[in-house]
Amino acid sequence: MTVKLQIIGGGLAGCEAAWQAARRGIEVELWEMRPGKMTPAHSTGYLAELVCSNSLRSDSLENAAGLLKHEMRRANSLIMQVAERCRVPAGRALAVDREEFAAGITAAIEAEPGIRIIREEVQEIPRSRPVIIATGPLTSPTLANSLQSFAGAQYLYFYDAAAPIVTAESLNYDRIFKASRYGHGDDYLNCPMNKEEYERFYQALLAAERHPGHEFEKEAIFEACMPIEVMAARGPDTLRFGPLRPVGLIDPATDKEPYAVVQLRRDNLAGTLYNLVGFQTNLRWGAQEQVFRLIPGLEHAEFVRLGVMHRNTYIDSPRLLRPTLQLRTHPQVFLAGQLTGVEGYLESAASGLLAGINAARYIKGKQPLVLPSTTALGALIQYITEPSHAPLQPMHVNFGLLPPLEQKIKSRRERNRALSARALAAIVTIEEFSGN
Ligand SMILES: Cc1cc2nc3c(=O)[nH]c(=O)nc-3n(C[C@H](O)[C@H](O)[C@H](O)COP(=O)(O)OP(=O)(O)OC[C@H]3O[C@@H](n4cnc5c(N)ncnc54)[C@H](O)[C@@H]3O)c2cc1C
Repeated sequence: MTVKLQIIGGGLAGCEAAWQAARRGIEVELWEMRPGKMTPAHSTGYLAELVCSNSLRSDSLENAAGLLKHEMRRANSLIMQVAERCRVPAGRALAVDREEFAAGITAAIEAEPGIRIIREEVQEIPRSRPVIIATGPLTSPTLANSLQSFAGAQYLYFYDAAAPIVTAESLNYDRIFKASRYGHGDDYLNCPMNKEEYERFYQALLAAERHPGHEFEKEAIFEACMPIEVMAARGPDTLRFGPLRPVGLIDPATDKEPYAVVQLRRDNLAGTLYNLVGFQTNLRWGAQEQVFRLIPGLEHAEFVRLGVMHRNTYIDSPRLLRPTLQLRTHPQVFLAGQLTGVEGYLESAASGLLAGINAARYIKGKQPLVLPSTTALGALIQYITEPSHAPLQPMHVNFGLLPPLEQKIKSRRERNRALSARALAAIVTIEEFSGN
């Protein structure tokens, strides 16, 4: 055993980080405030409680979430091991019995000799010892204050109001034109609508089912940007004077200003992902795909992320974090989980895995790892820490984050398999991921 590592937060990320560090001979103190102090979403004292769905998503190598799981298994992920043991039938997805899952993680962490669990809220970020902060989307307010004064108040967000993101390759360019308003370049992709198309879209938007949300989310909703469906409910033309305004845009197909325009903005440097400008929304996920595919050019769009509006504490990682998950200004402080701007159970656990490995390396005087961007985990971490992505909008893992293959493959399934094969070939060359 060597120097103590403090890990704050015993959720998906904190547990995986603790396991990885302890397995590398680091003595770990894992601080979890529940059950003494609960969050608004957790309901038990178990570590790694799943607060909503019981699915860790696809387990197929044709899906980026499946690839990420395979990469984590190579590093003997605790979350993956326990998930396998309490798997429930869910087709190609890895879904778990939530109680057995959280109880299984809790038992494994309790039984790990290198980890001591301390059931207490941490109120201040320690400044003089190696620490991983993994307190999640519902970080306790006192610790959030400490993080604000540590990292800069302007770099900590409490609310996630994000628009959907689509892949560039899934768009119909017969309907879309490139242009910025008033002829100032061609940075945006524009989806023009005539009156009939607008009215059809508008009616569908009003009728679409909304997500009920939690009480603590409803309170915050109007502090952030307004959801597109709430704006639409104010009147039939509100959107045409707001995010769908056509002014300054001429459709080359008609040589006229369209009746309305949905603009898509580049979401990554490679230009493989685009977000729907102004489309933060609280619609149910199924309803979003149905309604947004009525937008000309988006008929067959692949949504790598749907719109969300919920309470979420996260930092502006592009400004604050290195791709090793260390704070740029304080290399002994690592961050992991949803707090870094990754989104989802799986992504949070995966970032915890890297933080645990890297904190152990740091304590042993070794260089922390930067994973190649051809791997799912490397691409995700590079996305959230790439300075040009500031201010950050949280992100799920998806194939649009990985650099394209050298040769073009038309079939999406084949292409995804080839991306996975390239990623796994890269990951096995990394010693820390050569466990299985
Ligand atoms: C309402 C809600 C629903 C969600 N639904 C889904 C879903 O269906 N699917 C999905 O993939 N993701 C969902 N998410 C996102 C989900 O929270 C994350 O994916 C995942 O739990 C994040 O893992 P984490 O380890 O970063 O945080 P968490 O799992 O939340 O773990 C953080 C831990 O830190 C503890 N903690 C907080 N502050 C302190 C402190 N000061 N001192 C000590 N301990 C502290 C908390 O008690 C908690 O146990 C949801 C989030 C919310 C808020």
